[in-house]
Amino acid sequence: MEYPSKLIEDAVNEVSKLPGIGKKTALRLVLHLLKRDEDQTELLAQSLMAMRTKVKYCQKCHNLSDHDLCTICASHKRDQSLICVVEDTRDVLAIENTAQFKGLYHVLGGIISPVEGVGPSDLQIDSLMARLRGTESEQVREIILAISPTMEGDTTAFYLQKKLKPFNLKISTIARGFPLVATWNTPTK
Ligand SMILES: [Zn+2]
Repeated sequence: MEYPSKLIEDAVNEVSKLPGIGKKTALRLVLHLLKRDEDQTELLAQSLMAMRTKVKYCQKCHNLSDHDLCTICASHKRDQSLICVVEDTRDVLAIENTAQFKGLYHVLGGIISPVEGVGPSDLQIDSLMARLRGTESEQVREIILAISPTMEGDTTAFYLQKKLKPFNLKISTIARGFPLVATWNTPTK
């Protein structure tokens, strides 16, 4: 494609690096930004930069957060006896949207996948063990494994079950996408 401007070409190239956005869509977005007020583009750029530089991982559960502790870990209203182990932040969002789970989370940051070279040490598994040995050891009664029912997910769940065994906790498994309500409405104490 021939661009009338090198600056537009650069912007199109950058935008088209985003997943699911081809050159045509990128050009449409760039031309849209050119038509809008300049300060709207500035706000967009600022919010993207702020998100990129300031969002961090919760020190406890590794969910994405603006603070050292995410709002879920920092809340006193959550059931401290339950930890739901998930693959990534999107799972936390999906489960939070059901408004049925009142416990805490632990975000692994992926699943064990030998094909993609992801081993247990690449995931937040040691930090889960550290939580169970540390200040939370008194409170936690149950671990819920909400990991996708794929071969990699099963491998991860199996690995976790083995690692969790010495802690003598109740371990439940919930496949992602299953109705969660019934399971999480059962009293846990
Ligand atoms: Zn957290």
